[in-house]
Amino acid sequence: MAELLRVEDLKKFFPIKGGLFGKGKGIVYAVNGVSFSIDRGETVGLVGESGCGKSTLGRTILRLIEPTSGRIIFEGKDILQLKGKELRSLRKEMQIIFQDPYASLNPRMTVEEIVGEAFTIHGIARGREREKRVRELLDIVGLPSDAINRYPHEFSGGQRQRIGIARAIALRPSFIVADEPLSALDVSIQAQIIKLLEEIQKEFNITYLLITHDLRVVRHITSRVIVMYLGKIMEMAPTESLFQGFTHPYTEALLSAVPVPVPGSKRKRIILRGEIPSPMNPPPGCVFHTRCIYAQERCRKEEPQLLPRGGGVLSACHFPVR
Ligand code: SF4
Repeated sequence: MAELLRVEDLKKFFPIKGGLFGKGKGIVYAVNGVSFSIDRGETVGLVGESGCGKSTLGRTILRLIEPTSGRIIFEGKDILQLKGKELRSLRKEMQIIFQDPYASLNPRMTVEEIVGEAFTIHGIARGREREKRVRELLDIVGLPSDAINRYPHEFSGGQRQRIGIARAIALRPSFIVADEPLSALDVSIQAQIIKLLEEIQKEFNITYLLITHDLRVVRHITSRVIVMYLGKIMEMAPTESLFQGFTHPYTEALLSAVPVPVPGSKRKRIILRGEIPSPMNPPPGCVFHTRCIYAQERCRKEEPQLLPRGGGVLSACHFPVR
């Protein structure tokens, strides 16, 4: 498969201002030197605990947040160099589905205005033509045609997420960041939305970066997984090989915390002790060393690099599990 997106040493730091004279109080190292690539048509899962930087990474790739440094190459172009018209045209190619379908839809706009807004902004369609296109999109996402004149509050959570998906695919993007698209929904509805995401991927050849904390969803629909902790990638692997044989202790802890059935596996349960450290003050050496059951002296001093472990697996650990 051809590469669609490549991220090189991406960093996003947020300075924290405060105090009497607005002096800097510190820096949040939200994304701290992340590199990976995604092939066209792939679904890559991005997992990790809350506060690990996965949502910031997703938004930075889309330039909804400007990065501190690094490179983002999309379809061969360094998108951080794009401005004006070129940047607007990039926006058609890269879209986002938000976590909370309640909060992400403007309650004062009708479904036609929400889904059709992009057609107006990009000068693609107005009036009858826009209405026709919105009705087509509603049909694709499984909403009735008469939803077009209704407001978000008139829909259930699952239906609102369908509206959010219709909005995301309106301009036929090639890449979508889906940021926890299921976590606000009931389990029964989640399955329907997963099916819809898979259907539109096939129909429109969409590439997904799926941000989630739900490893069962990851196992079901992704082909590769990136595991993040404190702004850094800990492990990156084809999905099945990660579930059959992780190499990083953090992945081991994440997997042991959820009931993901692995045939023949006698996994021990590892309790992650303590809170994730503050991203304002990440630990030296391996950022995971304060919670890692395998940590040794070297881990406290020397940062492990993300190294290949065979079979497309990369992990950042001095003492990999396998
Ligand atoms: Fe644990 Fe050391 Fe590996 Fe970090 S480098 S994950 S602390 S064993």
